[in-house]
Amino acid sequence: MDRSKLYRRFRTLLIANRGEIACRVIRTARAMGLRTVAVYSEADRDAMHVALADEAVLLGPARARDSYLNVERLIEAARKTGAEAVHPGYGFLSENAEFAQACLDAGLVFVGPTAEMMTAMGSKSGSKALMEKAGVPLVPGYHGEAQDDATLSKAADKIGFPILVKASAGGGGRGMRIVRSAAELAPAIVSAKREAKAAFGDDRMLIEKYVDNPRHIEVQIIGDSHGNLLSLFERECTLQRRHQKVIEEAPSPTLNAAQRETVCAAARKAAGAVNYVGAGTIEFVSDGKDVFFIEMNTRLQVEHPVTELITGIDLVEWQLRVAFGEALPLKQDEIKLNGHAVEARVYAENPTKNFMPSVGKISTWRLPAETGGLRIDAGYREGDTVSPYYDAMLAKMIAWAPTRDVAIDRLNRGLEDSDVRGIVTNIPFLSALITHPKVRANAIDTGFIERELAALTSGAPAPGELELCAAVAAIVNDERQVAQGEAKSPWQTFGWMPLGRRQRSFAFRVGHGPELKVTLNYGSGPSTLVIGERELAFTVARKDGGFDLTLDGVKSSVAAVIDGHELYLRTRNGRFDLHWVDPFGGETEEQAGADKIAAPLPGTVVAVLAEEGAKLEKGAPILTLEVMKMEQTLRAPYAGVLKSIKCKVGDIVQEGVELAVVEASGE
Ligand code: ADP
Repeated sequence: MDRSKLYRRFRTLLIANRGEIACRVIRTARAMGLRTVAVYSEADRDAMHVALADEAVLLGPARARDSYLNVERLIEAARKTGAEAVHPGYGFLSENAEFAQACLDAGLVFVGPTAEMMTAMGSKSGSKALMEKAGVPLVPGYHGEAQDDATLSKAADKIGFPILVKASAGGGGRGMRIVRSAAELAPAIVSAKREAKAAFGDDRMLIEKYVDNPRHIEVQIIGDSHGNLLSLFERECTLQRRHQKVIEEAPSPTLNAAQRETVCAAARKAAGAVNYVGAGTIEFVSDGKDVFFIEMNTRLQVEHPVTELITGIDLVEWQLRVAFGEALPLKQDEIKLNGHAVEARVYAENPTKNFMPSVGKISTWRLPAETGGLRIDAGYREGDTVSPYYDAMLAKMIAWAPTRDVAIDRLNRGLEDSDVRGIVTNIPFLSALITHPKVRANAIDTGFIERELAALTSGAPAPGELELCAAVAAIVNDERQVAQGEAKSPWQTFGWMPLGRRQRSFAFRVGHGPELKVTLNYGSGPSTLVIGERELAFTVARKDGGFDLTLDGVKSSVAAVIDGHELYLRTRNGRFDLHWVDPFGGETEEQAGADKIAAPLPGTVVAVLAEEGAKLEKGAPILTLEVMKMEQTLRAPYAGVLKSIKCKVGDIVQEGVELAVVEASGE
């Protein structure tokens, strides 16, 4: 096929994606003078990517298959807007060969490889067969066509446990199970197949030896339509949860220069096997010494910014230039590695509740400025709504520095200086993770997060004098703003009482903890707070997002958000959520919700795991829901008897709906 027909100059680019990646592609496309077209679903009418693009087309209802995965609608959107090219981003249709072909058939340039290359590399099984031929090292495993139970179980025995069962069409860690013994194999295959079928419409499985203490190392490559192919160094993405990357860095701190050259050469060989065009990633699993090919991703990856920061190359710009039919602008020996970059994925999820996705309106979104080596690729703004329909990644924070240690410190500072409210985010978890001594020492493997989860999600510290003082300051600030619109400093008004000193009492609570009492003395003279036996003088100077609080002669910066009686404070000691106990409002104790076996979010019941009348241990699995593409198993909150199951497999259930009732056994 004549490649000049596939790749040629264009002026208008449609981005077949949403969220941060759509925003990121739009930014570079615009900088290159292109017109940009966004597409969106009904749930994304007000989304950031829609606002950023020059034009935007509604695809259909919220469900991805009715909108972002609807090939016909996408092609129609391109036709309507005169778009000449399509950038697929990542996820959705980015690795779908039929979509790439449909774009071509509609006369559009597809910013990526051809459908043939995708088909060759897109399935984990197919690509492994190719790599085997090209002499790229593979993990021992089975990637054949036959899928019957007997073949799979024979293959597993031959490879030797532990093994990994993987969906051939898989991605994002879905449809993958570690199996440690022959007895676990059959149920693991059933559940992996079910997940794969739902997620990819394809339940073919492959089996691999599970590499011990595995590390994930991958190489960024890019090829043009003139036969040039470059590797842009490697990334290490070993910090994962459930096989999904959480923190990524470049270069890998595990490899020395010789190993770096070996893995990059293997990646070029792998991509060269299909004369690859476009940006792609060759993924390897490593035991710390050797690397083994696991798969190729024929698209841009979430973590591409760390490569951009150490090479100074804008990968989206290069993707577009390749799509224009240009030759790559640099030769292999002109690509230089400079410094170190680390990325953290910011998700709307609750790490203390098993990373349950969090949906709702982002009431506060305050992220630091992109200065001093910090870069933020965001897909959301204040006021945006996180819906349950798509991946819950909100943004990526990336830090560059000359050394790994400083890059980690910069990233941590960026995370610490971020305040997002309205939804729960993993920001504090990310901070705890990247500052963990073992992460700093690179003494990790892909199981690290799961093992250290308790330490990484340990709750906030108890509020001290600084926080109680900040809480009072935040409330008075807020009252003053409400009363007077934009006010000067509320503290100035404390002089207006002619009658001398006045007092006001406050009480706060953290969770279900005891009340913490504070008395504010104000009026003539400096304001003071009485906490227990101590009386503390303090002053407050308001600033953006909070105030400077001087307490006992030390000035420190406080970020504050007040929502009714809920106070969020960030001080030098960490983040604090305080409830202001209203002296007049009858405070009702919340019903403990933990006992109810209810859908945490809208989802589909995919398995019922216990029968009515069964005796259950505490923590026994009752049923499995698929929520936001991930399986979540609901378990018995205490030992007891399963009184009733109020749903069946296939039911689509709304948030909060009770799905089962467990009667506690009386102890
Ligand atoms: P996906 O396409 O779903 O991301 P991958 O095949 O890329 O699936 O694997 C995801 C992660 O699982 C890898 O990053 C690696 O950490 C881990 N993994 C994959 N294969 C193996 C293996 N054979 N042994 C140990 N860990 C593995």
